[in-house]
Amino acid sequence: MAGTAVRGRLTWQTATVSSVLVETDSVRTIFLDVPDWPGHRAGQHLDVRLTAEDGYQAERSYSIASAPGEPLAITVERLADGEVSPYLTQELRAGDQMEVRGPIGGYFVWEPELGGPLLLAAGGSGVVPLRAIVRRRIMAGSPVPVRLLYSSRSWADVIYRDELSRSEPGVQVIHTLTRSHPDGWTGYTRRVDAAMLAEVAFRAAEGALAYVCGPTNFVEAVAAGLVGLGYPAGRVRTERFGASGQ
Ligand SMILES: Cc1cc2nc3c(=O)[nH]c(=O)nc-3n(C[C@H](O)[C@H](O)[C@H](O)COP(=O)(O)OP(=O)(O)OC[C@H]3O[C@@H](n4cnc5c(N)ncnc54)[C@H](O)[C@@H]3O)c2cc1C
Repeated sequence: MAGTAVRGRLTWQTATVSSVLVETDSVRTIFLDVPDWPGHRAGQHLDVRLTAEDGYQAERSYSIASAPGEPLAITVERLADGEVSPYLTQELRAGDQMEVRGPIGGYFVWEPELGGPLLLAAGGSGVVPLRAIVRRRIMAGSPVPVRLLYSSRSWADVIYRDELSRSEPGVQVIHTLTRSHPDGWTGYTRRVDAAMLAEVAFRAAEGALAYVCGPTNFVEAVAAGLVGLGYPAGRVRTERFGASGQ
């Protein structure tokens, strides 16, 4: 009994990097082999702890990019002046080890029983847990309609671009590109605002459930916009990654 509790989600475990996938210039998906990983739900995150040779430690949280049952993965965006993300995205190689603990979080998760329709809104790397939710929805064969509104700086910055371009019945991906866009782009070219949400979001009366993830300012603006459209606050789940703007 005590042993079971100790080996729970708050226990640090050694993770071995099995592979690193290039997503964009600044984003990598890191596949982790954690022998005693207890499994996770779509939307949860884990903590990473790095220890330098002199014993200095740094911890950061990363959303789990894979759906339950898939190989464990995180997707990390490099912040130029950051402490941990440049190491994870530029230095880390297959075979390297680090410590992880998790899964963490019981609120920003989606299970098929929660139903929908699902309105997902992502700013930048905020797409990571929402991608896990989309994969969960597809793999479970759930009929719940999904709309993912995804704000990126440019087309080159879109994470999971090929995957999100694949057509999946009942799943719609709507991009907005806030800084630059390819010639002939007919989609949105501005930050998510109330007018965009009114066009994209399911109507509140449809009983939609919203998940909003990204930089703090993005999350606050989108959540306020959805509440303005009549979404009950309890139907808008949010996850903030930190201060960096989109
Ligand atoms: C639940 C959760 C899930 C997350 N999931 C993801 C994910 O899936 N992918 C992802 O890429 N990130 C994710 N993050 C963010 C991640 O945890 C890190 O914050 C991110 O990688 C930056 O870490 P860093 O060490 O590189 O940067 P840090 O060194 O922590 O710096 C972060 C930013 O703050 C600025 N800064 C640092 N110190 C100061 C200071 N003293 N004064 C002013 N500014 C300062 C830096 O300039 C930088 O821009 C998540 C965060 C949370 C809370």
